[in-house]
Formats: sequence, structure tokens, C-alpha cells
Amino acid sequence: MVSKRLCISRLRSGGLITNYYCSSACRHCLYRCSPRWPRDFISSEETREALETSRRLGCRALHIGGGEPLLNPGGVASVLSTAQEAGVTIEYVETNASWYRNHETACALLERLAAAGLSTLLVSISPFHNEFIPLRKVRGALAACRASGISVFPWIAGFTPDLETFDPERPHALEEYEEAFGSDYLPRLTGRYWISPGGRALETFGPYMEQIPVRRLIAKTKTGCAELADTSHFHLDLYGNYVPGLCAGLAIGRQDLGSPLDTEAYPLITRLSTEGLGALLSYVSGEHGFSPSKERYAFKCELCYEIRRFLVIERGVDSCELRPREHYGTQEKQRD
Ligand code: SF4
Ligand code: SF4
Repeated sequence: MVSKRLCISRLRSGGLITNYYCSSACRHCLYRCSPRWPRDFISSEETREALETSRRLGCRALHIGGGEPLLNPGGVASVLSTAQEAGVTIEYVETNASWYRNHETACALLERLAAAGLSTLLVSISPFHNEFIPLRKVRGALAACRASGISVFPWIAGFTPDLETFDPERPHALEEYEEAFGSDYLPRLTGRYWISPGGRALETFGPYMEQIPVRRLIAKTKTGCAELADTSHFHLDLYGNYVPGLCAGLAIGRQDLGSPLDTEAYPLITRLSTEGLGALLSYVSGEHGFSPSKERYAFKCELCYEIRRFLVIERGVDSCELRPREHYGTQEKQRD
């Protein structure tokens, strides 16, 4: 067993994932959120614990994200109030605007959240979101923010002209964008939107990328995946998981932050962080009979995900490192 141990001792900048269920199922979503997730929302107790952990490790400002947090406005108000009590600033709440019905109800909702401490809404504006959310709702949410004195962080305003090409009353598939703007519209989005090679982006963008042989991917990470120790965009979720780096589907128990990780409890993350993908591949091949389905992958994280999904779905491994299990499609499997 490897001897070096990952230790997350200081948190820089991050967010609280209050829920994974979402009204949308965007094709780039790092956390693979969708309406098929359980309708769980962070509890008051978990909110307090997560805020306390963040503060203890040096981070006193967080954002709230999901999933779509505003599917549970009372829950968001409660998180905002708890953060105020804990002395943690909530920089913004992310939203896809699906909750918008009309100006009056939207303003009433935002005023209620403002009273609980909301200052800024990050409003998603993108072709990915427009597959599920009509532009009318996004415009309505923006207007309600203006009327209620809530600042807006538009993500990303530069897409507005693209969205305005279409009927604002209904959603539009990415295929409609390809028809309007060219067949290379989807791969060109990687230059216009910050996309992390994880979650659904693996399947959406992988086919457009150079396919790299497994041995080269392994060679690239042989000193370990430094991303796992990066706390510049960390997340703590409703289930008590810390998501290391942007490695969605990997988890460190919140209670294990601040100390070197137990290598027996975290065999996958320890191998990835110290010796990289090759060590994970050897371990899971030897212990569980995994072999890669392809000779080449677009991203190292694509192979990493395939290995982890194999463990959860094919071998039924129930590990504290592979959380939440729904990230691997366990809810889809149950319904098959
Ligand atoms: S990107 Fe945001 S709106 Fe889209 S599915 Fe993920 S959480 Fe939902
Ligand atoms: S290969 Fe795995 S551990 Fe490394 S950055 Fe990608 S998802 Fe994270």
C-alpha cells in the first residue's frame, strides 16, 4: 500500500451543494444533476457542520449551488440564515431560473430570500440550459432581481444573442443551435464556456477531442493527480461529502478533512493522489477484474470515471470514496 497521504488542511474558495436534484439535465453538468435524483435537500444540522468545517479550515465565504437550489426556496432561506449566524458570507446562489412563473411571485420569492441574506443570484444563461429552460424565464428572473434589489451574476451574458435567435417561450435543443450556427457549434462551446472534463461533459465533448492512448494518460499522471489537493473551487455537499478538486463522484468525508487521509479507508483517492491513474487502474484491475473498454480516451478523467463507475455499477462496491452513488447512475439502474 502507498505511504504518502493526501491531507486537505486549508480551504480556499468553494460552495455548498444543497441538493443534486434539478429541473434541468444539462449536457455539460459536472455533477450529472437531473430530475431523476432524490429530492433531498441539505438539513439544518448538515448546513451548520459544513459551514463550521469551512470556517475552521480558513474559508469564510461560500456560494450555494446544486442541482437547482431554488426548487426549495424555504431550504435556501434557511441556509442563508444559518450562514449569517455562523459568520459565513454567501457570495451568491446559483440558479437556472426554472422556478420563474411571473413577476409578482418571483419578486416575492426574492424579497423573502433577500431578508434572509441573499445579495446576488448567479443566473445561468447558456445553450446547455436553454435545452430545458426557456429564455422567457431567464429574462423574468433577471427582471425580478432588478426590481428586488438583488445583484445578478449572469453566467454567461455572451450567450444571450445566441439564445435570442430562437423563440423565447420554449426550450431549444442543442441540435437547433447546430442547425442555426453550424455543425461545429458544440465543440466551439468549449472555447466560450468554462467546462470541466467531468460529469456529462465527458460524453458530450469527449468525441470531439483527440483520443489519447491509455499508456500516455497514465504517464501524464504518474506523480499523482494534483487536482485532488486543489481547494480553489471545492464543494461540500448535503450528504457530508467533500468533493476533492473538481473530481465529481469522488468524496472525502467532511469529518476527515484537516488530517492526513487514512490510506485503508481511502484506497482509491490515495492512489490517485500519489501515483495517479496507473495506480488506480492496476489496483482495480487486480482486485476487481476491471479492464478498459477502449484503447484511447479523450481525458484522463474519462478513464477514471469508467473505472469508478465499474466499481459502483458492475461490482456493487459501496465505498465512502464513491459518493454520491447516484453520480454513477444507480437511480437509472434501479428503474431499468
Ligand atoms: S448545470 Fe446546473 S442547471 Fe444544469 S443540470 Fe447541472 S445543476 Fe442543473
Ligand atoms: S483522473 Fe480522476 S482523480 Fe485525476 S483529476 Fe480526473 S477525476 Fe480527478
